[in-house]
Amino acid sequence: MKEDTLIASVGRNKDYTHGAVNTPVYHASTLIFETVRDMKKANAKLHTGGLSYGRRGNPTTYALSEAMCELEGADGCFLYPSGLAAITGAILSFAGSGDHILMADGVYEPTRNLAHKILKRMGITTTFYDPMIGDGIDGLIQDNTRIIFVEAPCSVTMEIQDIPAIAKAAHNRDVLVMMDNTWATPLHFKVFDHGVDVSIHAGTKYIVGHSDAMLGTVSTRAAHFEQLCNMSYQMGYCLSPDDAFLALRGLRTLKIRLKQHEANGLKIAQWLEGRPEVDHVRHPAFESCPGHEYWQRDFTGANGLFSFVLKQGHEAATTAMMEGMKHFKMGFSWGGYESLILTYHGINRYRTATGWAATGPLVRLHVGLEDPDDLIADLENAFVRFNQKI
Ligand SMILES: *Cc1c(COP(=O)(O)O)cnc(C)c1O
Repeated sequence: MKEDTLIASVGRNKDYTHGAVNTPVYHASTLIFETVRDMKKANAKLHTGGLSYGRRGNPTTYALSEAMCELEGADGCFLYPSGLAAITGAILSFAGSGDHILMADGVYEPTRNLAHKILKRMGITTTFYDPMIGDGIDGLIQDNTRIIFVEAPCSVTMEIQDIPAIAKAAHNRDVLVMMDNTWATPLHFKVFDHGVDVSIHAGTKYIVGHSDAMLGTVSTRAAHFEQLCNMSYQMGYCLSPDDAFLALRGLRTLKIRLKQHEANGLKIAQWLEGRPEVDHVRHPAFESCPGHEYWQRDFTGANGLFSFVLKQGHEAATTAMMEGMKHFKMGFSWGGYESLILTYHGINRYRTATGWAATGPLVRLHVGLEDPDDLIADLENAFVRFNQKI
């Protein structure tokens, strides 16, 4: 089945849809039984279609789990109330006191904070590594290393890692590879074909796609699902059926949205590359992006999220830039239909294993589905305001 067909059909199990095109939103904490035998039977099936108690899953959440499995080629998918909850749940399902984690220096900042502020307190230590390390990761693996946590491209700075090389080194030493695959979505990077064991998505971003729900997913092959599922269930994670419904709805248009985000993003990135204020563009499809060759080899597409570094500019200049935008709204997050802008001063603050050479501020754009010419005009005006304050 081709991907366009697959995405239209995933998760539409008749057991859940009961004849409707889409699985309805089932609101249920409690399910009631006629016989003790039925009750025991339903309760024996944790996250495999059994209906016994809301936290153990319901038809709407099962439909989303199955859809994610079919898209990613996974055997099981556990759902969480946010992307960060998915990251926390995945790590705590596989690491405990005395264990060690290797984490890319450019991971999503809250993931970094989780390591510093929560995992550390629980006796789990973390070493951050240069995202460009490749098979050199072998030298950092300790006897107690349990997980290598990768994210590609890195949040904000956009380096792409050589995931197959890292996975090979990890598996030689019996270490699990966990990936925050939010940027690529299930469509643009096939995690399990590249050696990843545990695939994490902030569904909040492109999967939901409309900036109106939060959720996270973690998928694995059979060998790791029982542990993930049991541990995450015991920690109390579950997802509301309304948000599962919004994710299923978003999934149906994921592929066509990504195509448009990618085309709009590339047009704007190319325009930015010609601007005198811009030092360089950090877009995985550009040669100037560290690890571009791995993106070209392993990924099947880009999207609307990328960054660029300015040659110079104090906070007053970037504030003037940000505050007058018409279409690029100022806001955290990304992956909805709308364009967003954020600026970062002092990227070094987010890094411990690697330096950051550029002295100018970094601007991160999420290019939405608006007409790119309108967006370029918006940025053109932004540079006028910026240059007045520089
Ligand atoms: C947003 C984001 C998350 C966290 O998702 P939430 O739903 O906001 O908790 C995790 N990883 C990446 C790369 C993200 O961009």
